[in-house]
Amino acid sequence: MKAALQTDWRLREETPVYGKPMDVVDGIRRIVAPNPHSMTYHGTNTWLITHAAGTAVVDPGTDDPAHLDAICGVAGTISHVIVTHWHHDHFDGARTLALRANVPVFKFPSGPLRGDKDLLNGAEIAGMRVIHTPGHAEDHICLERPDGVLLSGDHVMGWSTTLVPPPPDGDLGDYIESLERVQALNARIFLPGHGPEILKPYSFIEQLLEKRYEKLHQIENILTHEVQEFSNICNRAYPKLNKKLRFAAEMMLETYLLELKKRGKAIQEPTGWKRAGY
Ligand SMILES: [Zn+2]
Repeated sequence: MKAALQTDWRLREETPVYGKPMDVVDGIRRIVAPNPHSMTYHGTNTWLITHAAGTAVVDPGTDDPAHLDAICGVAGTISHVIVTHWHHDHFDGARTLALRANVPVFKFPSGPLRGDKDLLNGAEIAGMRVIHTPGHAEDHICLERPDGVLLSGDHVMGWSTTLVPPPPDGDLGDYIESLERVQALNARIFLPGHGPEILKPYSFIEQLLEKRYEKLHQIENILTHEVQEFSNICNRAYPKLNKKLRFAAEMMLETYLLELKKRGKAIQEPTGWKRAGY
């Protein structure tokens, strides 16, 4: 296993060779899809899980012929195509791959894109247990192998914090609750939807939770009794932001503000937001 490069709290790695499978843990290989972006790091991780009835493919990534060829070239008999959530960088190749392998697409039954077969919380598939983890997406699932390996999708990633969009797709309260639930599993390794594996998931999640509460607190402190425009709050909450990430920051800020509103700490007005109470 190649060690991830750690700079600050984030786990980084060199650009992987696209199309080339990497052995990550026993019976699990990773192929990175060629869709690098400021939101996807080097690209989406496609996970190949070897089990008694063949190979389950988790998150086929984008509908990229070379990537799907690479998966088919090394997977052997594909037994299942599974997606962790409906977002296009995970789901788009699923339909094509499932047709090629003549198997259904398995997915949690909600979200704007549907699979062929439903995977509910607690279901068993390809030697793994399904854990519904809403927050980043309403239909998000993680998959737990009994030996302490967890496929964490976009719920927990090493290279970046997770974007939690505002409802209906995302929700900060759900996200935090889902984080605490996967932390309590005490897994030994997380295999995320983007970037390198996470070797100390318990303490890593501890840091993620701290960051969320810090940011929530910081945004609460930006609010005053005067109504402030959303864009002004955004400039103060995310100063020195790369322009390409402005839309993500705006989504995240709306999610935080809605959480503060739910907690009785913020009031939404037609022109912006203000602090609740005195
Ligand atoms: Zn996603």
